[in-house]
Amino acid sequence: MTKIFETPLYPYQRSPDQDTGAATRHPVVVIGAGPVGLAAAIDLAQQNIPVVVLDDNDKVSFGSRAICFAKRPLEILDRLGCGEPMVEKGVRWDTGRVFFDEAETYSFSLLNETGHKKPAFINLQQYYFEEYLVNRLRELQAEGKPVDLRGENKVTALADNGDHVRLEVDTPEGPYLLEADWLIAADGANSPTRRMLGHDFAGRVFEDNFLIADVIMEADFPSERWFWFDPPFNRGQSALLHKQPDNVWRIDLQLGWDIDREQEMKPENVIPRLKAMLGEEAKFELEWVSIYTFQCRRMERFRYGRTLFVGDAAHQVSPFGARGANSGLQDTDNLAWKLKLVLEGVADERLLDSYSYERVYGAEENILNSTRSTDFITPKSDQSRIFRDAVLTLAQEHAFARPLVNSGRLSVPCTYDGSALNGPDDANLPNATRPGAPLKDAESGSGWLLDRVGNQFQLLTFNAHAPDVVNVDGIKISRLDLPASDDLNARYLGDAKSAVYLIRPDQHIAARWLEFDEAAVKAALNTAIGK
Ligand SMILES: Cc1cc2nc3c(=O)[nH]c(=O)nc-3n(C[C@H](O)[C@H](O)[C@H](O)COP(=O)(O)OP(=O)(O)OC[C@H]3O[C@@H](n4cnc5c(N)ncnc54)[C@H](O)[C@@H]3O)c2cc1C
Repeated sequence: MTKIFETPLYPYQRSPDQDTGAATRHPVVVIGAGPVGLAAAIDLAQQNIPVVVLDDNDKVSFGSRAICFAKRPLEILDRLGCGEPMVEKGVRWDTGRVFFDEAETYSFSLLNETGHKKPAFINLQQYYFEEYLVNRLRELQAEGKPVDLRGENKVTALADNGDHVRLEVDTPEGPYLLEADWLIAADGANSPTRRMLGHDFAGRVFEDNFLIADVIMEADFPSERWFWFDPPFNRGQSALLHKQPDNVWRIDLQLGWDIDREQEMKPENVIPRLKAMLGEEAKFELEWVSIYTFQCRRMERFRYGRTLFVGDAAHQVSPFGARGANSGLQDTDNLAWKLKLVLEGVADERLLDSYSYERVYGAEENILNSTRSTDFITPKSDQSRIFRDAVLTLAQEHAFARPLVNSGRLSVPCTYDGSALNGPDDANLPNATRPGAPLKDAESGSGWLLDRVGNQFQLLTFNAHAPDVVNVDGIKISRLDLPASDDLNARYLGDAKSAVYLIRPDQHIAARWLEFDEAAVKAALNTAIGK
């Protein structure tokens, strides 16, 4: 049977742009059809912003890449129209178990409150994730939405000409030229765009190697994340086990720095390692084996002139915490509505600087978490190892030590505290839903809060009088007043009697008050679009 990652999903096709004899101008060009570039294109096309996606390949990616997708990106994917099939195919999980030496240290749940439509996490191979995104893009094309995905279109040269970017693109039938009002660089960790435009990537390289084996086996381990520190089957190192769809299991074994990578990848060396972990009798087949090292680093800014960097092109983290693709989706969620308003002339292009500010802030948080996890997993001195082992031993018996155990702080969305787009806040309302925070989902009546908002500014009101629509210079803010529920009250009202929230198109909170005041709402909207 041909696997999805072997099938050209967007084979090369000649584009009319190749026959014009001049560079055709497009409002938005995205370089890279990885998870982040595809999500950006879907978001824009869904809102009728014409977008061309160029990729040097014609297939979804394969190999040891993302498997864990977190609740917030799944909520974003619902807004993009493709969250459901991913959750249906994926393996849902919310429990993690930590082992030290031979014993279980403790377990934890990632979803400690009810009333959320999406699970805390699903595990889904990145090739399936990308396939669902390509399917969604094809659906949009069938609906006549303006999106063009061009396989085997490799960008070979770039120039920012002030009011547009000029691209040279190579294809199986030779090169052609394009121009973009705005360029989205989603071309991955080695980003040729970053290099061609002469920008830096600063951060830290971790001296460690991890063996990833994706194995096909029938096994009755539960759908949980299991993490071992110093287990008998991989002494002095760590190990991780995750279940994926189709009976594929991800096994991640730390190897240390000084290894012979080629030797370690040979099946005759991999299989005994896996048998030591799974038992001599375990029956499995290797789907994919690779060795990775990682870095925690980012660009100084994510906007340079007419180019906006997203995903791995802008920032990289270690896989512990699953913050790579998950945070890349939050980049595009933050960017798409801002770019739309700028292209429509409703907002000034300075609004795009807030994309850089807010997502650099998010990337810093991710890099900090990812670096801390890595330092705990791989102590850099004897003292650090003694501390770590003491914490792990204490955590078995004593709850106070458990928060100190760090096997990877798993991806959560960022609250944009300090963003210039944040408007007023009333401190009597719950802290978790303050300006800058993403909306917290909640059940309401027969539906979900997050299914009712998205892609536009909205007013969410609780026991407050407000008009159904407020118009501000070309932007329509419609009002959403949902049936009360315990979850809504707890998350948005707390002890207050009433509340009014201004919600951004990316479902982050812009401002909130106890009562509706039209002048205040209009002023907050202007703040939220950078005016
Ligand atoms: C072992 C491992 C485990 C991981 N686990 C997780 C996880 O569980 N959860 C998670 O969220 N993340 C995880 N990640 C990270 C995740 O894989 C990446 O963050 C994600 O792939 C980044 O997506 P992207 O679209 O930014 O870049 P990429 O997926 O790298 O896509 C870039 C695209 O750009 C194209 N391209 C490059 N150059 C050009 C060019 N010149 N012209 C045209 N196209 C070009 C490439 O062909 C590619 O299709 C993991 C990574 C690794 C290595």
